[in-house]
Amino acid sequence: MHLSDKYPFLIKYFESGIKNPEKSIAHSILFYGNDINAQYKLAIYISRLLNCKQDKNFDCNCLNCNWINNGEHPAVLTISRKDNKPDDDESKTVISLKQAAKIKQSLLNSSDFHRVFIFCDRDDDNNILGLNRLNFQEETANALLKTIEEPPKNTTFFFLTRDKNDLISTIISRSQCFFVPSYENEIIDWTPIKDIFENYFEFERKDVFNVACSLNNLSKNSIETLEQIQSYILSLMKSNYNNKPFLVKLLHDIEAVEYTKKQIISKVTPLNAFENLCIDIIK
Ligand SMILES: [Zn+2]
Repeated sequence: MHLSDKYPFLIKYFESGIKNPEKSIAHSILFYGNDINAQYKLAIYISRLLNCKQDKNFDCNCLNCNWINNGEHPAVLTISRKDNKPDDDESKTVISLKQAAKIKQSLLNSSDFHRVFIFCDRDDDNNILGLNRLNFQEETANALLKTIEEPPKNTTFFFLTRDKNDLISTIISRSQCFFVPSYENEIIDWTPIKDIFENYFEFERKDVFNVACSLNNLSKNSIETLEQIQSYILSLMKSNYNNKPFLVKLLHDIEAVEYTKKQIISKVTPLNAFENLCIDIIK
């Protein structure tokens, strides 16, 4: 599926920010969610929007877009334990202090490009993975804080991670954070929850506990039920591209369901977890 079909809300948000003459997007952008590859593609696309000298289309073939698509742009850099290490850097498992120093040094020179640094992890098979406190440690993050907060003009940092809490709070507080929903659950059949949950956004506050109770009674496997709910919300997102306020609500709700999964994994009773969810998303 095309990026713009998957994430029309995020794409529109960044396009309108970048196309305005002030280029009003944050210096530091944090993506989180289970699909790190989608986050990486989004960061690459935004890097193209920032550097494209033509009409900023998806299929643009200008020099900047081509360079970025091929991973060869001199100013759009992936920063991982495997990418863009200084020659004398022996570290293998982390984004190192030397890498941080190299970035800061490079920013002392001016550039004709919009500089982008995409922080992520990469495994031995070249798959893009998310940051955590082991591969992006506190002292390296701290070495970059001032730069992230007040970078030179035309500089953007991206941080990719599965869970916001995998990053130190000082990075989170300096970044604009976006949840990137995973479409892995889209193929899940949500008919089991249909009778209970369809059109939940029209339910009323007084329905909350009944709905939570019915969801809880539906199956012994609460995670499965939650994935069906996510699949249903994803289908709503696809059919409501142009309704921005509704999309914002759906994005919030799908993230709330993700949070509910974590509650259940950390042993909150399923009934309580479903109640918390319904209180959160049924207004
Ligand atoms: Zn272009």
